[in-house]
Amino acid sequence: MTSTDVLVIGGGIVGQVTAIRLAQAGARVTVVDAGLNAGSTANAGSLHVQMQSRFMRLYPDQVPNIEASLPLYCQAVEEWVHLDQQYGSFELVRKGGLMLAETKAQLAFLEKKAERENQKGVSVDMLDRSALERIAPWLGPQIIGAELCRNEGKVNPLAANLRLRAVADKLGVQFAQDHIRSLSADNQIKAIGHSGTYRADRTVIAAAWGAGALVQSFGMAIPSIAEPLHMNITEACSARIEHLVQHAERSITLKQFNSGQIVIGGGWPARDQGTNRVPTVEPSSLLGNVSLAARLVPTIGHVRIIRTWAGMNTTMDGASVIGPLPGCDRVVMAVPGDAGYTLGPLVARLAADCVLGQPDHGRIDRYSPTRFAA
Ligand SMILES: Cc1cc2nc3c(=O)[nH]c(=O)nc-3n(C[C@H](O)[C@H](O)[C@H](O)COP(=O)(O)OP(=O)(O)OC[C@H]3O[C@@H](n4cnc5c(N)ncnc54)[C@H](O)[C@@H]3O)c2cc1C
Repeated sequence: MTSTDVLVIGGGIVGQVTAIRLAQAGARVTVVDAGLNAGSTANAGSLHVQMQSRFMRLYPDQVPNIEASLPLYCQAVEEWVHLDQQYGSFELVRKGGLMLAETKAQLAFLEKKAERENQKGVSVDMLDRSALERIAPWLGPQIIGAELCRNEGKVNPLAANLRLRAVADKLGVQFAQDHIRSLSADNQIKAIGHSGTYRADRTVIAAAWGAGALVQSFGMAIPSIAEPLHMNITEACSARIEHLVQHAERSITLKQFNSGQIVIGGGWPARDQGTNRVPTVEPSSLLGNVSLAARLVPTIGHVRIIRTWAGMNTTMDGASVIGPLPGCDRVVMAVPGDAGYTLGPLVARLAADCVLGQPDHGRIDRYSPTRFAA
């Protein structure tokens, strides 16, 4: 049996950063992770702030929660900047994100969206073609304008994950590979996994798609749903794309790493195999995703895709779930809303502050798990 001060369930970006924060405060921390389907090891490294058109189209009922969370996204990118300065380099670049329009209707959609985002404190502007020509001359000739979100940027998630794991190891955080199948709390936390039993004073649930099942027995109905998504990366090329690129209507994110490679994704579906297996690539997503990229940025049309993969995203109700369970403050939730890699380090810090009893001045009230209490 493993006994520790804090058991963190889930070892993605949220679990790792939570463990680092708690260990820095002197806690003994064990991270237990099923070792499968972490969005953090599959994601594209886009630091999102503006509302993603893909999300607005697919999940219109969740847009109010996303819109209300916009200030959190702005703070989340700042959190990445601090982490990068402290532990970097994660190849963090913050030159802003462009959401492209090819038609007048798309431009009108972006104009309205920009107005709403400005009211929430997001730094956005509309650019016409001549303004775009100055900062992104590589765009296809059919692009008539774009929304520029200055808060946005990109990191290399492989570099960030490796570096953060090294920091956690150095702080003495223990890691165990196990799938927790039941969780209970009396005067201690008891978590039973396939390979062992874990006891702790507190637990942090950083299990993304697995979070809902873990807290069902506490009377919580958290709709954490696994969403398999597709990704591609090209060989290194001489294009110089500094911005994160998205589209007003079509699903795409496109950006260039320091290596010169271009990462193309943005929510194309992968084939679901259940959460106990890794999703597989859908050829139609591969073809659709890269041909859209070549249409928007014709100068990369000749560049070869060298790797393509599928990974597990998590969707809920559009807002993060952060804070203690009602009636059981030994269990603290740390599940980011949409664009969870962007939100991850900030959600982790807020959850760690809860465990440490540090005042949050009402910052997390909106994200409390009480909204899912039966
Ligand atoms: C292809 C793809 C591209 C993406 N691109 C971006 C992007 O560019 N920018 C962005 O902001 N976000 C992006 N995302 C979303 C982002 O990756 C995730 O939201 C984020 O990584 C979630 O981090 P996390 O730490 O909460 O969870 P995860 O990284 O998903 O980790 C959760 C961990 O919990 C473990 N777990 C679950 N249940 C249990 C259990 N019962 N017992 C033990 N362990 C358990 C899982 O095995 C997993 O390892 C993308 C996602 C995908 C799939």
